[in-house]
Amino acid sequence: MSVRPPTVADGPVVIVGAGVTGLSIAQFLAEAGVEVVVVERLGAPGGLARSFRYDAFVFDVGPHRFHTSNPHVTTWLDRVLGEDKVSFPRHSEVFFHGRYYRWPLKPQELVRLPPTIAARSGLDLALNTFRTYRIDSFEEYILRQYGPTLYAHFFRDYTEDFLGLHPRDTHPDWAKAGINRAIIDDKLEMQNLSQLLKSTLLQFGKSEIDFLYPRGGMSVIWERLVARLEAGGVRILLGTPAHLVARGNRVVAVHAGEDRIRPSVVIWTGPIGTAAAQLGLPATRLDYRSLVLYNVMLEGDVPRRYQWCYYGEKDFVFSRISAPRFFHEATCPPGTTGLCVEVTCQEGDHRWQQAERLTDWVVEDLVRVRMLPDRRLVRDVRIERICDAYPIYHKDYPADLERTTRAFALFDNLHMAGRCGTFWYNNMDHCVEAAFDLTRRLLFEAGIQSDEAALAAGPSDLGDRAHLADPVRSAAPL
Ligand SMILES: Cc1cc2nc3c(=O)[nH]c(=O)nc-3n(C[C@H](O)[C@H](O)[C@H](O)COP(=O)(O)OP(=O)(O)OC[C@H]3O[C@@H](n4cnc5c(N)ncnc54)[C@H](O)[C@@H]3O)c2cc1C
Repeated sequence: MSVRPPTVADGPVVIVGAGVTGLSIAQFLAEAGVEVVVVERLGAPGGLARSFRYDAFVFDVGPHRFHTSNPHVTTWLDRVLGEDKVSFPRHSEVFFHGRYYRWPLKPQELVRLPPTIAARSGLDLALNTFRTYRIDSFEEYILRQYGPTLYAHFFRDYTEDFLGLHPRDTHPDWAKAGINRAIIDDKLEMQNLSQLLKSTLLQFGKSEIDFLYPRGGMSVIWERLVARLEAGGVRILLGTPAHLVARGNRVVAVHAGEDRIRPSVVIWTGPIGTAAAQLGLPATRLDYRSLVLYNVMLEGDVPRRYQWCYYGEKDFVFSRISAPRFFHEATCPPGTTGLCVEVTCQEGDHRWQQAERLTDWVVEDLVRVRMLPDRRLVRDVRIERICDAYPIYHKDYPADLERTTRAFALFDNLHMAGRCGTFWYNNMDHCVEAAFDLTRRLLFEAGIQSDEAALAAGPSDLGDRAHLADPVRSAAPL
């Protein structure tokens, strides 16, 4: 075994996972002439950003759309999609106490809040000036930022149900990510009620930011990338789980189906716990929340034309509904509508295993929230199980993450990347930026590309690795 750590110039680089991160790293490395093999356990590319097609209906994993302020990521998307994308302003909503409100809240919506809640929230805010909080949990964070009324009426139940963890046992990072998750607009300040009111008023008359979406659904991007990579000689093994084999401080083989690959470098974008188990590292408490999607196909129109809406109350089985038709009309046949209904769960729990038995409850709740005028309009419901959708930020997760990251760092040819691989509550544009950042470093170490050449090539605002140091701060929100 050589003393010098292997570089990407020393043989095939194995990338585990054909999600946004894995495919964009594969693209950047292959374009620099590196030999790459991508191994993906699922039968299709795209990971959490994949689509499901049933005849002429297309659904993504919940609402998926691109937003980036990084011109290089826009250029990358242009290179993949060309003209085959649409842009549209956001129209999202929140369902609260039986009524729909635009989300983020608009000035004209504030007066529609139930008066007792509005009055108590105002009072909370005034009293909060005299209170002190320790801010060591999601609960404390929200109490300080929004006060007890909004915490009790909205944040507590929504978060407990969404994450499967009591707010008291949840790290405050979840509050930052979870609240921002809904916003995607860095000009909108929403750290407390007074800021919300201030920026809500500032928003008056301001146009919505635009999102980008591929014609035909998110998977169009990944299918095109796969076709291009394969045409360029990259091997992509779909439907094949990867297994790492280590000797000493090096990954010496990747087993993928019948293949036994001797990698130069391995880039792992799957769950942290799986990689740790394969390498014989101590078990981690870094777990993920999973999703069951109910992709509901309806005859006719729906009463509300939002792209997606949050449902925070505990007695609804779902946490969010999205309507792909309002991203791009070609995602369903004329005269029909598709609704993607998200139910969070733990892989293997009752909801996960018995998902089919909840279908009636989902349909009933669609009627209760007035998204379905009559249950007889339902043409079909298809259920999809999505594992490892959200990193669970339990109270002690930073120490667990640091310990595990240190253990991985002992392997001299292994790099953890992506949403699952770095336990980072991120977006697709962050995946592409981080992919370029990692690729640039690997090419530089291999002497294939100078830093300056890589920088000139784009597609990232490099140098800014703040998001890797603090995933949450930069994780703009879903
Ligand atoms: C409901 C939801 C809505 C979202 N909405 C948006 C949005 O609107 N805009 C946005 O920008 N972002 C959004 N995101 C975030 C976005 O989906 C992620 O940031 C991105 O898809 C993560 O890509 P990734 O490649 O890092 O990880 P993943 O997509 O998780 O890819 C990892 C891949 O590794 C594979 N894998 C795991 N283990 C193995 C193994 N042993 N062998 C082989 N393969 C393996 C997995 O199957 C998977 O395909 C959303 C996420 C969710 C869950």
